[in-house]
Order: sequence, then C-alpha cells, then structure tokens
Amino acid sequence: MSASNVDRYDLSPQRKDLVLNSHRPIELVEWVKWHTMNFGLDDPTVQQGHLTRLLQDFVAFVVVERHCPYESLRKLELIRDAVSKVVFCGALDGVSLEWGRIGGNRPDYGVTEGYGADVKIGIRPFPKAKSKEASAKEVVQTLLHELCHAMLMKYSCVNRLCGDQACMGKRELEEGKKGHGVAWRSLASFVESITEHVFGKELLLDIKFD
Ligand SMILES: [Zn+2]
Ligand SMILES: [Zn+2]
Repeated sequence: MSASNVDRYDLSPQRKDLVLNSHRPIELVEWVKWHTMNFGLDDPTVQQGHLTRLLQDFVAFVVVERHCPYESLRKLELIRDAVSKVVFCGALDGVSLEWGRIGGNRPDYGVTEGYGADVKIGIRPFPKAKSKEASAKEVVQTLLHELCHAMLMKYSCVNRLCGDQACMGKRELEEGKKGHGVAWRSLASFVESITEHVFGKELLLDIKFD
C-alpha cells in the first residue's frame, strides 16, 4: 500500500481520528493490517500468552448443547476487548455483544447489524460441538468472523446507500451481496492467518464468498 493510504488512517498513538470514513473499506482493511503487523502483534497481551489463557478460561464457562450461561458472555467480552486491542487498535472495545440475536430459522452462528456507533454483534448461544473445547472454539471463531464485519460496519460506509456514485459502483465488489466481499474477505483472511500467533491455536473464520 502507498504511504498516503497509511497516512489517511494513521491513528497512533490515539485512535480519535478513526471515525466513520466513508467510501474506503479496502483502505481501512489495509490500515488495520498495517497497524496490527507494526504494533498489535508486539503487544504484551500477545507476548505473555494472555489471549491463549482467556480462551482457556472461556472453555470452562461453555455448556455443551445447551444455552451458554450469562457469565460466559462476560468471558467472551474479555476476549473481544483483547482482540480489539491487538488486531483492531482498540477500535472495537466494548462493541455490543449478546447471545442469541439470530432470528427465525437462520442457520448462521452469528450476525452483525447496524452501522457506526450502533453496531451490534449477536452470537448463537448453542454451540453444536460435542466438547467444551470444541464449543468454545466454535464460539470464538464466530466472534472473530463478526468482529471483521463490525470493523467495516463501524468505520466505513461499506457502500451502503451512501450516495457517493463511485463508491456505490464498487458496492458489489467491496461489500458483496451479504457482506463477504473483497474488503471483508481480505480482513478475515488476515485475522485467520495470525490466530495461531495470537491464540496459540489455529482458528478458522468460515471465509465465504457471497
Ligand atoms: Zn460510500
Ligand atoms: Zn459473515
């Protein structure tokens, strides 16, 4: 990426300038990658195995084939904020996270809705896996998938009806029909590629093409 693209999102040491920056989802993703590679992965949170331990802690709070209890959501929020710090420059700290906002017969494990400050993540509280470890892994993988959506929906127009003609022209390519366009896939692939370093185990983000 060019220096100018980085400059546009150069937020360090503060992230106060990371405001809704319309029309540039791919540049936003490039900035996130750049920031993570230059700062996030060296964070003591990663170096001291903090996220690996948070994931292990979460396992104890997951219930197999039943609704995960409320307390487990608090543990998942700790993972959310640590991932936010390492991968997303703290930009997703405290983003709304709930169990079970998946409506109707949708087969999805998670959903991210809203834009800007109203972004909300819902995760299905019934992991189907047969062990606590596998269930916890499934939930955290879903969380990572949804955090990638949340980053784009919170800080880019993701080409929704923003009114910018050039931006709308790229809508199908960048956003995709269901949010899994070029921008999201690029971000999700990047996050997937660093999970072993960050969590001490490989996690998969169910990278889709639609
Ligand atoms: Zn736009
Ligand atoms: Zn998705």
